[in-house]
Amino acid sequence: MPIAFDLIPYLAMKNNKLLIGPGTVVTFGKENKILQSSGILVEDDEIKEIGEWKELEEKNKSAMMLDADGRVIMPGLINAHTHLYNSFARWISMPGEDSNNLQNIPDKLQSKLERALQVEDCYLSAVVPIIQGLKKGVTTYIDHHCSPFYRDTTPLGCLDEVGQAVIDLGVRACLCCEVSDRDGEMITLSEISENERFIEMTRSGHGGGRLSSMIGLHSQFTCSDETLEAVRQLDSYEKAGIHVHCAETLSDVEDARSRGFEGAVARLAEFNLLTEKTILANCVHLTEKEIELISNSSSAVVYQNAVGAADIIKLMKKEITVGVGTDEISPNLLGDFKTSAGLQHHKKKYSHAGLSEPIKLLTEGNPAIASRYFEKPVGMIEAGSYADIAVMDYYPPTHLAKESFDEHLLSELLNSDAMHTICHGKVIIKDKKLKGNFDEEALSELAKEHAEDLRQRII
Ligand SMILES: [Zn+2]
Repeated sequence: MPIAFDLIPYLAMKNNKLLIGPGTVVTFGKENKILQSSGILVEDDEIKEIGEWKELEEKNKSAMMLDADGRVIMPGLINAHTHLYNSFARWISMPGEDSNNLQNIPDKLQSKLERALQVEDCYLSAVVPIIQGLKKGVTTYIDHHCSPFYRDTTPLGCLDEVGQAVIDLGVRACLCCEVSDRDGEMITLSEISENERFIEMTRSGHGGGRLSSMIGLHSQFTCSDETLEAVRQLDSYEKAGIHVHCAETLSDVEDARSRGFEGAVARLAEFNLLTEKTILANCVHLTEKEIELISNSSSAVVYQNAVGAADIIKLMKKEITVGVGTDEISPNLLGDFKTSAGLQHHKKKYSHAGLSEPIKLLTEGNPAIASRYFEKPVGMIEAGSYADIAVMDYYPPTHLAKESFDEHLLSELLNSDAMHTICHGKVIIKDKKLKGNFDEEALSELAKEHAEDLRQRII
């Protein structure tokens, strides 16, 4: 990618120490503690201490201070399933298309967009939504990339481009690219090798702890049994796990049944592709036996506002780790979450569904899932975790306590901007502005030029 951006951390930290506070610290994790008048001490890339503000300030006078001014201090948010490249799909509409049948999509605009993505598109379509996400407190992405013909335009890998956007902006991401049989054997093989290559790179230290990777599978109906077996045989499979759309539509299930399996999850199980490193996106249509298979394997499910709503409450009762993503084009995890949570309210028809249970996906599920792919815990405010922190511009009208957190989150906290966003111990957004030598407007203009050029190639 010829566009070189050098992120300059806003604060030259004294002794590599950064003190953030005072404010109401919301820790996330199983306990999700709410700590009034508190602060966080960061050293290098990790959280060292959380404590009462005055005491913490007194002990750490040499540290650089980032003023939270009494706001809410949360972990940086995790988008557990998304497609950053889909920011280039914001001009697409598919009138009249039956979106309940994903098998219709390959010849439609969405698939044309994926096939037309060139090297700079992969970078620019990721950079812009990452900036937008940072302004809403999102610091980690588990991204599912798809650009099967990018090799026509570069000797580099498509994941290098998305990864460079992640590196340049200072965020954290676990990347993969979709393997499918939609475009012939040569493309299938190149997609498999791209995943393998990038897994080796990140395991060798590329990204400095902020990049990780998996093996991506599009959906099972686009993958033959031979392709699933080839993925299972990869040396990198056990270490990295797979990230796959699963049982989102009935057509995916019917395809698995036509091959002799009980459903999409049962087919994955038959190929030994369910492990604790597996991420199953969507899971709308599951049998009781398949829910047991997921539970026994410790694979994770990621819920989102997709084609139908998974029964997350049922999955959570089976002790399945369930997280939440945005799946499509919105970089605003919390904004999108309001719809996802509301879908549960509608589905279950009782008041807590859509309130406390989906919120656990944000506070417990996403940190548990993301932490499987990085060296230190991610998405929680606790000593030893990566220092990914969002100071949200929210002053509550009532006492913010453990018992009232859900109400605060759903009523207004989720609409708030991030005042400051920190990832890996570096301040990236300060006072709602992107630091470093980025020219956000110029990037947006460049992205628009590339998106328009892409549109002209496929309409
Ligand atoms: Zn998806």
